Amino acid sequence: MPKSSFVDFKAVKAAITMEQVLQHYGLIDRFKRSGDNLSGPCPIHKGTNPTQFRVSISKNIWNCFSECKHGGNVLDFIARMESCGIHAAALKAIEWFRLDPKAVASDSESENDPPGEAPRNTNPPRTKQDSKPASAPESSAPNKPLQFRLDKLQRDHPYLKERGFTLETIVDFGAGFCEKGVMAKRIAIPIHNPEGKVVAYAGRWPGEPASDTPKYKLPQGFRKSQELFNLDRAIQEPADRPLVIVEGFFGCMKLHQHGCRKVVALMGSTLSATQEELIRKHTNRHSRVIVMLDEDEAGRTGREDIAVRLARFVFVKIHTFDQEDRQPEHLSAEEVAQLFGGAT
Ligand SMILES: [Zn+2]
Repeated sequence: MPKSSFVDFKAVKAAITMEQVLQHYGLIDRFKRSGDNLSGPCPIHKGTNPTQFRVSISKNIWNCFSECKHGGNVLDFIARMESCGIHAAALKAIEWFRLDPKAVASDSESENDPPGEAPRNTNPPRTKQDSKPASAPESSAPNKPLQFRLDKLQRDHPYLKERGFTLETIVDFGAGFCEKGVMAKRIAIPIHNPEGKVVAYAGRWPGEPASDTPKYKLPQGFRKSQELFNLDRAIQEPADRPLVIVEGFFGCMKLHQHGCRKVVALMGSTLSATQEELIRKHTNRHSRVIVMLDEDEAGRTGREDIAVRLARFVFVKIHTFDQEDRQPEHLSAEEVAQLFGGAT
């Protein structure tokens, strides 16, 4: 693969068959063919029942009806076999099957999140499905700086205090409770572009919203895949410090509060092509990046993919938490100091 190209997942999926992939793993002899189906023991959970794993040849998809209770396309299969993300699986497939890199390179940004998808805390725990690349390409037009400011934000709102934020951090990030206007009754958090201009406000409902109210609100037309939250300030930190990548606003703000100031948030658990470019632009081949996503299914899937992509141009370390559902926001000042040795 050319270093800078993005993979067109659809083209890779169309170029290889499940039969070829099973053959690659030396598994095809264990499978029986009948009509449109191949069936055999599940290679993913290493089962023995000869009918538990089925492949539809025409649809080029698979299903494990036993332990995995899961199915998908060729790339999902490789991702499961290799315990990697979809992007990494696609790169492997390109290599194994000697696909023409040009034929499967994407000049669009189809790896991006769906437009307008709210940040990660918005939704109930996501499944693997959600972290798959969106098929609809997203416009890569930059977000325009806002012509207004939300003023009179209440800085000392109890919700922010409850989440452990000091007034200093809240003021520093320009956040606060908004009484009126587009973000009414929400905690407004300004999002800046790399030049430091406000391009949007994200609105977090303070507490658990009713089921029909989203936790996060982003302005219509705002493309979060075009920005990295706090990048404008992170790039002012010394070049020899590692850049920490987290998922959400509050994780970013908390690390910042604890003295880790070279930190950005993806506003989700995937890295868009534009975000990857932003990181590339503001790092060099000596730079270090620490990927610190949430310890859940989406975070684990996301960090694999992100690490593979960033490792092409910086030194990457994945931070894992030893407990399910732990996230950067939960880290204490002491833990942050220990992790970064006060050097971030
Ligand atoms: Zn299985």
